[in-house]
This record gives sequence, C-alpha cells and structure tokens, in this order.
Amino acid sequence: MSYDAIVIGGGIVGTSTAYHLVRAGARTLLVDRRDTGRATDAGAGILSPATNTRDPDPWQRLAAHAVGYYPGLIESLESEQEGETGFAVCGMMIVAVSEDELEPFDVARRHIFNRRNRQGGPSAQDLYEISSDEARKRFPALAGVQGAIYYRDAARVDGRLLTGALRRAAESRGLTVQETGVEALRMDNDAVTGVVTDAGAISTADVVIAGGAWSHAFGLQLGVQIPVEPQRGQIIHLGLPPAANTASWTIVSAVRGHYMVPWPDNRVVVGATRETGSGFDARTTVAGVREVLDEALRVAPGLAAAEIRDIRVGLRPYTQDLLPVLGPVPGRKNVWLATGHGPTGLQLGPYSGKLIADLITGNDLPINLDAYRITRFFS
Ligand SMILES: Cc1cc2nc3c(=O)[nH]c(=O)nc-3n(C[C@H](O)[C@H](O)[C@H](O)COP(=O)(O)OP(=O)(O)OC[C@H]3O[C@@H](n4cnc5c(N)ncnc54)[C@H](O)[C@@H]3O)c2cc1C
Repeated sequence: MSYDAIVIGGGIVGTSTAYHLVRAGARTLLVDRRDTGRATDAGAGILSPATNTRDPDPWQRLAAHAVGYYPGLIESLESEQEGETGFAVCGMMIVAVSEDELEPFDVARRHIFNRRNRQGGPSAQDLYEISSDEARKRFPALAGVQGAIYYRDAARVDGRLLTGALRRAAESRGLTVQETGVEALRMDNDAVTGVVTDAGAISTADVVIAGGAWSHAFGLQLGVQIPVEPQRGQIIHLGLPPAANTASWTIVSAVRGHYMVPWPDNRVVVGATRETGSGFDARTTVAGVREVLDEALRVAPGLAAAEIRDIRVGLRPYTQDLLPVLGPVPGRKNVWLATGHGPTGLQLGPYSGKLIADLITGNDLPINLDAYRITRFFS
C-alpha cells in the first residue's frame, strides 16, 4: 500500500499534522513509536502568549495565530469525535512572592504592558494588575503576593486528551496508524520516497518528520543537522480534597518561571524543571522533585497537605533560539520538518500541524514561515 503522506511521530505535532492532512483528503499513515518521555504526555498545557516574557517576537507572531486557532479546532473536534479535549479558558496570574522577585516582576510587567500597547490588545478589561487578596481568591493556596498580573483569556489543555481527540477524529476520516518505529527514510537521489519500519518499506509522496526530541536522528540520512535536543521536564500532579474546588482556580506562574495549573478533578499540576543537556534520560530525579516541590510550596504554601498523585517526565524538543523548526529540508524533495517546539508545543503544535498540512497540499499559508525554517541555522 502506498500513501499520499506519512507522518513520523504521534505527539501533538505529528497527530495534528496527520489530522489536517486527512481533512484535506490525503491518504495518510501516522507512525508512532511512543517513546518513554514523550513530551505531549507530560506537558502542563498552559496557553497564554499575552503573559509570555521569555520567547522572541517571531514566537509571539506564531503563538497569536496558534492560540486564535484553538477555539475553532476544539469546536470541530467536539463534533467529530466523542472524547474530551481537555481544553478550557481558566485565566492566569503572574506573581511575585518575595522581595527579590520585585525587580524581575517590574521588568515582566513593562514587557507585557508595552507589548499590549504596541499590539492594541488584550484590552485593559482582560489583562490587568490585581491585589494580593484578589490573587488569593483566584488561587486560595497562594502565599501573600507582592505583585500580580491577571490575564482572563489564558487557557489550559491536556496534551494527552487533545492528541487522543485529534487521532480519533482523523481515524474516523481514514487515517491509518502504526505503532512502531521508523528506522530509516527511503531515498531516491534527492527525493524521499518512503519509510522503513520493522514491517518493511512503505512508499509515499511526502514524509513529515514530527519526532519531537528524537527528530535529529533523520539528519544524517538527509545530510542536514536537525538542531533539536531533549530538555527534560519533571512535573508533579497533586491531589487536593474535594472541598478545594480547583475547577474554579486560575493558573499561577511565579515570575521566576515555575507554575501551577489547576484541573477540575481536585488536581493541581506543579512544575517544571528545565534540564537542558539531560540527553534521552526520562527519569524522575531527587533533585528535580525537590526543585519542583520547593518552588510550589514557596509560592503556594496552602498546597503542603496535598497528596502526590503522579510524577511525569517529558523530553521537550528544544532549540537554542526557542523557535520551532517548520518547513522543507533544503536540497531534498518531499520531506518536511515539524519539530523543535520546546516548552510551548501544546500552545503552538496544533497550528503547526495545520501549517505543514497546508504546505503539503498546496494551500496558501496565513503566515510567513521564513523565521521558522531550518535554514536560519545555516551560516
Ligand atoms: C514538563 C513539561 C511541561 C510543558 N508545559 C507546556 C505548556 O505549559 N505549554 C505548552 O505549550 N507546552 C508545554 N510543554 C511542551 C510540549 O509538551 C511539547 O513542546 C510538545 O508536546 C512537543 O510535541 P511533539 O509532538 O513535537 O513531541 P512528542 O510529544 O515528544 O512526540 C514525539 C513522538 O514522536 C515519536 N517518534 C520519534 N521518533 C520516531 C521514529 N523514528 N519512529 C516513530 N515514532 C517516532 C516519539 O515516540 C513520540 O511519540 C511542556 C513539556 C514538558 C515536558
């Protein structure tokens, strides 16, 4: 059997790409090895470009499109399949707890509000400073804070649920899935013509490499270095008593970068480590767990009596410039990269999948991809 497209990798990015390809009528095969440390299974799921102070301007441009794309995608998925997507608008706060956070908080505040002024949004009703009392109403376990910014439209998504929903919706339109590894690409001179799995060779018109942190493995065959490396993230799921009513709580991020994401089932997810240079070592470590819990209790001492329900570890597909790698491979035909989404792939990934499907099927793109092409790494 031959396909119009084969997607390598069944995390959020690959599954979204496959979903959009079958929606466009392409006969598509998704091949997923489901490695331990798959980032999508561990991600916290924060969607909030308006409060982001870490990522560069090209990231903001892509994120604005990506987050704007979410509500329509969720609506489609709700009518195309029966499972939950794990998406909800719940709001987010950036807080400073200790004196030494006041300076970085001030820098973050200027960054966020200057950008708001430049871009003409979000409005002052949706993004504004709040008092310590109001912050604690929105997250009752919080310490008294020295400063807090609240953004109403921030959302959260459960990466596992959303990926499952995309896959079910795509399968109902004819997507084929094989749970195995792609060992090599099939090449005919400069063109990629298929993939090789343990079951043999499979031919296709186009191949998408969406292998997350493992994507670089195809670089040797393609004669290009794919500059994506694993960055380990450890994240802890805490259980609270039912009376806590976490369904109504808001996401909190301390200005230093750790965060807490509340979910409806009396659960607050706290994280996460950012361990660049970890390699493919998806273990929970004593130092990682201590870092995450120390920071969670510093910002929210009211979580001290919570139980530990789960500890997850994911390998983020990290790039040095914090931008994803999207688009063709120079000098090669019929092969596309959709990787390198680092710490923000749940935010960007569903939209990246749409963009790659648009490229393959020849649709006009709503955004210029130059800033995300692999060629930016070539000197
Ligand atoms: C702790 C943590 C917190 C995070 N928080 C957020 C957040 O709040 N907001 C946000 O937007 N993002 C967040 N992220 C980032 C986000 O989870 C990732 O960017 C995103 O999930 C990456 O998706 P992916 O599909 O590229 O990779 P993955 O989810 O890692 O999937 C890659 C898949 O490709 C498969 N694969 C690789 N090679 C092959 C092969 N040769 N053959 C077959 N299959 C292959 C793997 O087995 C895997 O299943 C977080 C990540 C972590 C770890």
